Amino acid sequence: MTDPEWMAAIRALVGKDYGRVYGWDPVNVPMARQWAEIMGVDNPRYAEGKLVPPAMLQVWCMEGPTINHYPPGSTTENPYEALKLIEAHGYPSVVAVNSELEFDRYLAPGEKLYYTTRLDAISEEKSTALGTGFFITLSMTFFSQHAAGDEEVGRLLFRVFKFKPAHAAKPAMGTPVGPPKIKRPAPGISDDTRFFWDGAHAGKLMIQRCKACGTLRHPPGPCCPECYSFEWDALEASGRGTVYSFVVMHYPEVPPFDYPNPIGLIELEEGTRLVAQLVGVKPADVHIGMPVQVEFNQVDVGAPDGNDTIALPQFRPVVG
Ligand code: ZN
Repeated sequence: MTDPEWMAAIRALVGKDYGRVYGWDPVNVPMARQWAEIMGVDNPRYAEGKLVPPAMLQVWCMEGPTINHYPPGSTTENPYEALKLIEAHGYPSVVAVNSELEFDRYLAPGEKLYYTTRLDAISEEKSTALGTGFFITLSMTFFSQHAAGDEEVGRLLFRVFKFKPAHAAKPAMGTPVGPPKIKRPAPGISDDTRFFWDGAHAGKLMIQRCKACGTLRHPPGPCCPECYSFEWDALEASGRGTVYSFVVMHYPEVPPFDYPNPIGLIELEEGTRLVAQLVGVKPADVHIGMPVQVEFNQVDVGAPDGNDTIALPQFRPVVG
């Protein structure tokens, strides 16, 4: 597509370097320990507290819950100004499309970091299943501060799609045809998960079981987390369970789901848990401990112009 006129001024920013954003805290053990716990990283090298996980690079300079709340001395410019400017022209939505993290060495507690940002690229306007908009590529370079001169320690490439959602697009004059219907994303089905979807297709809720120690696990994976055996089979669950926990999704409203959208963590009577949508219940009536029963509903998935359906396990409250 040709650029809209207003884009020229924004495109002129490509190549611009934005100043430093400092970390609020130096690299430190408590944050590393909590990060490792949350991410399930169980590496004795990090437990010693001498090194921190390299994948935390971006974490050290995050601003926290308030956007662009940077520590004193940081740039007063907004490194994301291109996104704001495009948004002002009617492209409200954003989705991250890829992120590439590179690190040059391990970081150690006590190091003080900052990063600088460069606006690398803004694509032509593109139409996708999500909507119409621009791919914007930013690259951040991270440095560790030293008296003798700062040292580059890693880089982060971050690409986002800033777009007008397809469902909000106005049809052209005289064309009553609406935008393509957005469907649910199709699940990624692998050799490890095919039994689950084949089971759903046959109206059965299948749960993976370790052949060596009998532990049930979900979501499916190649290896038993208890005994590390790769041998597994599956059992057909009764489909009865209780709501162990739940959330009610309100925002952002992503098509094609209805909102508010209650999602349960279901504890099956066999003892394992799975995440599934709750149906046949008002969000306000969902409660922990509520008895539920699985049902399999056919839903449209995949590309807007495809005709694929899949049987999706969902849970409904048991009446009485
Ligand atoms: Zn096992």
